[in-house]
Amino acid sequence: MAEEKMWIAGEWCASSDGAKSDALNPANGEVLATVPKATVDDVNRCVDASRTAFESKDWKLMDPAQRGRILNKMAAVTYAKAKELAALESANNGKTFREALSEIRYGAWTFEYFAGLADKIEGSTIPVPGSRLNYTLRQPLGVTAHIIPWNFPLQLALRSIAPALAAGCTVIAKPASWTPLSLLAWAKAIDEAETGLPHAVLQVLTGSGSLAGDALAGHSGVDGIVLTGGVPTGKTVMAKASEQLTPVTLELGGKGANIVFSDANLRYAAKAICFGIFMNAGQMCWAGSRLLVHEDVHDDLVQAVCDEVSKWPVGPGMEEGVRMGSLVHQRHRSEVLEKLETGLKQGGTVVLGGNALDRDGAFMEATVVTGVESSHLLFQDELFGPVLGVTSFSSDEEALALANDTPFGLLNGVWTNDLGRAHRFARDLECGMVSINEYPITFPQTAFTGWKHSGIGIEQSQDALRFYTKVKNVNVKL
Ligand code: NAD
Repeated sequence: MAEEKMWIAGEWCASSDGAKSDALNPANGEVLATVPKATVDDVNRCVDASRTAFESKDWKLMDPAQRGRILNKMAAVTYAKAKELAALESANNGKTFREALSEIRYGAWTFEYFAGLADKIEGSTIPVPGSRLNYTLRQPLGVTAHIIPWNFPLQLALRSIAPALAAGCTVIAKPASWTPLSLLAWAKAIDEAETGLPHAVLQVLTGSGSLAGDALAGHSGVDGIVLTGGVPTGKTVMAKASEQLTPVTLELGGKGANIVFSDANLRYAAKAICFGIFMNAGQMCWAGSRLLVHEDVHDDLVQAVCDEVSKWPVGPGMEEGVRMGSLVHQRHRSEVLEKLETGLKQGGTVVLGGNALDRDGAFMEATVVTGVESSHLLFQDELFGPVLGVTSFSSDEEALALANDTPFGLLNGVWTNDLGRAHRFARDLECGMVSINEYPITFPQTAFTGWKHSGIGIEQSQDALRFYTKVKNVNVKL
């Protein structure tokens, strides 16, 4: 069993009081490694090192094109190590190797994308009255803390680390305590690769959210906090950050809907709907956990979805041919099953699955529930598991009202060949992302952003760089 260390101030170290926690393989309960549990002293040391690195001329005064070259080298290391990292991700998270591999390659692509933007963070010149020159500078935000969830452990870390570094910030990344191994392994690979990243510009701190995450969120030495996590954590982190008026980016939960009209290609839609809720065993903020379907095609589509997912083998993520792996933890599976049971008391019919799998590990059946109404828990709450709730509608107005009737607003899908209807829905859906005739989909070049309780701020795309830069206006009397 490996004894992992965290990466503070360029050193691989244990926590200051020696405390550790276990990182497990949820498919069989095996302990893969022990990982340090950072103390408040460790957090302080890490923030101090980050501040020193941020102020150092090695980073602050680096030619931005050179920063871009370093990011490209980091992308190359990530591609080169992708298979090794994916195997570790699959073991520690339960997801399939194929899923992990595509996520890690996506993370590398994100680094390439922001590498190209590092020397294109431009200000503007502004026409003002009189004999003056007026311009803006966009300068790096400073020390940034990145608090990462367990569902896409490495990819979501890379998603925010890349723009932060491109903008000239320093980074402290804290993985979720269940899934720290891939980020630690990636950081080790970066450390060994001699990418030219200066000392302590990037650090990885492991430990609990309630202690290490909380200490980072309220730290006066942290200039920006990026959290991807649940809504309750988002509220706690935002409240804590408000003590220092620290800006936050929050990427939180979702209750995405696939809205399917009778003119849609049902066979293709059924495959995408399965992908949208059963990939990663449904543990996705952007899961399409609601299926809103026109009453004329309800029965056919439900049948097609059940037929499609019944072909998905469930099992350990490293096993050849497996399409749905283990949930991340037995405790999480219990929470999903409890919510499902509570939800079903309000109504709905299980037409597929509904149970834990009778074998070692945190496996669960792909589950489809029909007859879900908008007042039901299964319509409103994020279960974060492989559970699809189906609701039928009879008009466009009803479909739109249903789609918007949750506290969340992340990604929704619209399935129709009627161009006017597609764009009307794109306009009227209350969410940060809409996809027409495809689900789920995103790119490093496009904004990943939630409205309502799904979050604050933007990840990916050029817009992400706004968070990592401060605007300064300069006026010159000529
Ligand atoms: P979580 O909120 O439990 O934990 C997320 C991170 O926050 C972890 O690193 C955790 O240690 C830390 N944390 C927990 N309590 C904290 C506190 N008080 N102060 C500071 N940090 C704290 O989330 P999770 O269970 O790991 O992930 C699932 C959630 O993440 C779901 O709600 C999901 O929708 C959301 N998510 C959102 C996106 C997105 O981009 N919108 C992507 C993935 C996951």
